[in-house]
Amino acid sequence: MKTTRGLYVHIPFCLSKCTYCDFYSVAIDTNLIDSYVDALVKEIELASIKNNGVTIDTIYFGGGTPSVLPLSHLEKIIASIYKNFKVDIKEFTIEANPASKIDFAEYRNFGIDRISLGVQSLDDRLLKIIGRKHNSSIALNSIDEANKYFDKVSCDLMIGLPTQTLEQVEYSANVISSKVKHVSMYMLKLSNEVKMAEQISKGIFSLPDDDTFVDFYEEAYSIFKRNGLSRYEISNFSISGYESLHNLKYWNREEYIGLGASAHGFIGNIRYYILSNLKEYISGINYGNGKEISEIIDYKTALFEKIMLAFRLPSGIDIEAFNKEFNVDFEYIFSSQLKKLKPILVKDNNHIFIKEDKLLLESAVAREFLE
Ligand code: SF4
Repeated sequence: MKTTRGLYVHIPFCLSKCTYCDFYSVAIDTNLIDSYVDALVKEIELASIKNNGVTIDTIYFGGGTPSVLPLSHLEKIIASIYKNFKVDIKEFTIEANPASKIDFAEYRNFGIDRISLGVQSLDDRLLKIIGRKHNSSIALNSIDEANKYFDKVSCDLMIGLPTQTLEQVEYSANVISSKVKHVSMYMLKLSNEVKMAEQISKGIFSLPDDDTFVDFYEEAYSIFKRNGLSRYEISNFSISGYESLHNLKYWNREEYIGLGASAHGFIGNIRYYILSNLKEYISGINYGNGKEISEIIDYKTALFEKIMLAFRLPSGIDIEAFNKEFNVDFEYIFSSQLKKLKPILVKDNNHIFIKEDKLLLESAVAREFLE
């Protein structure tokens, strides 16, 4: 049987640090980029040996900001993937920052067929507060340019930002979803280490309360629906047929290879994480590989992961497939949880899922199954 896996490549460089971001990234440094790309190419070679016989069907360049990579570097990485792996590409995505110089035509020539633009908002004041380098007119121009070259254009939006208003959410959601076929709408989650957390704790800004946040989400969702985009995951909306195939692998618990400093991967029953240390990644690679932390996912963890991820999707749990995969009777072993969650869950033939208007309760629902 043909084994297929997705391939995620992390590019840990950014133009500057956004105030809310805790992804691993550093400021652009030409020498570091050169060495990083060399190390990445080496890791691609090693990973292809480890994944002998595997076919890569989705590629995702994320970050950081992959669009800050010089074209020659991007070309080198992609050439190395094609040279070392068996590829049968169904989707090839690159994340791009509207503030960077994006050569859409060259990206297409490299075989990239999907672009994800980090727009976040179309309100200039808000963009400044969160430390983005672009403004709304730069973002709109990027979207229009992207649409000339790509059929699959996605935009990231954020809700729950400091000082954000419902009108701002409505405006961004409406303009963006009338221009592109896919939107990822992320809810702000702050770790203590980021600059915005400090600004909040000092009282410089405040965050919308929970009810306001739910209003933002619901209003944006109804705008997306009006513009023809369906929700296929809590934070992801698309015209039918434009769902992200690579990201669906994460939610469906399918295998993917992660390459680059701070990348995650999932193969067999192992989840691994490559350390977020650029210098170590670059030097360590000369001796064989980026340093990984691996975790063996035991039966119980796998079962809970499946429940947690499936409830993020409108289709929820496929009972038959679940029973087969875990050799259980889902409705029997979780009968007390299903009884307790009856007002929130729906059973339709072979699927159990969260009611349309309760999807934001997904984490709480999943936690019930952990006990
Ligand atoms: S551009 Fe993206 S990865 Fe880079 S700092 Fe901003 S949010 Fe983080």
